[in-house]
Amino acid sequence: MIDAHCHLNFTEYDDDRDEVLFRARQVGVKNFLVIGTSLETSEKALALAKKEKDIAAVVGVHPTEIEHLPEHWVSQLKTLALDPEVVAIGEIGLDYYHTQETAVHKKQQEIFVTQLEIAHEVGKPVQIHNRHAGEDLMQILNEHSQILLNQPGMLHCFASSLDVLRQALDLGFYIGIDGNVTYPGLAKGESVTIPEIVRTTPLERIITETDSPYLTPIPYRGSRNEPQHVILVAAEIARIKGVSAQEVEEQVHKNVSTLFGI
Ligand SMILES: [Zn+2]
Ligand SMILES: [Zn+2]
Repeated sequence: MIDAHCHLNFTEYDDDRDEVLFRARQVGVKNFLVIGTSLETSEKALALAKKEKDIAAVVGVHPTEIEHLPEHWVSQLKTLALDPEVVAIGEIGLDYYHTQETAVHKKQQEIFVTQLEIAHEVGKPVQIHNRHAGEDLMQILNEHSQILLNQPGMLHCFASSLDVLRQALDLGFYIGIDGNVTYPGLAKGESVTIPEIVRTTPLERIITETDSPYLTPIPYRGSRNEPQHVILVAAEIARIKGVSAQEVEEQVHKNVSTLFGI
């Protein structure tokens, strides 16, 4: 089992990070991708990857963290991105949920493109975050398809229309599924349920993740999430697809190794 997107670098785990890792390993989680959202949390992700051999780091600036970037953030991020423990650039992307301001959206788009260019330069795939910005996101990705890798990356915690999903699959992206696959009904502002996304996406393109500390699956919804719960995500995918949990696990391992080389 693999948790391909979690934030064990966050302060939420400062008191019990080792226990959290232990619990996940106990239930069979073999690899963790720890994701940065700023320069600071990216550095922490890298430090964890250097310490634990089953952790790999992903470094990048999240669209809601772009306000206080230091002057030389591009060269700082590039230096981190070149480290062999770093397997992808992320999480990067667009998040229109918190603001309707066009100026902020434009700024997010600019920073996103800069980070796509960094990924191109260092030759690593991307982990993309999208919230309520699917159309703009696909427009940017289609416009920049020439700088994307053949296996360009993963749209983490996918939530968008089936049209956006088809465009993403056409570009070669993998689709990240989280604990919210267990939530009933439609999320606010979305038109497609996560189980519908899972049904439409071939297993060869699905990757399991938790986005810990967020998106805790049922029956633990409401408490801090942990990578051990990725088994609940895989079980739900298996149920929806009508296959065994082991088949999901084996295919996700193949997908992650193809995409991230681990
Ligand atoms: Zn995200
Ligand atoms: Zn995340």
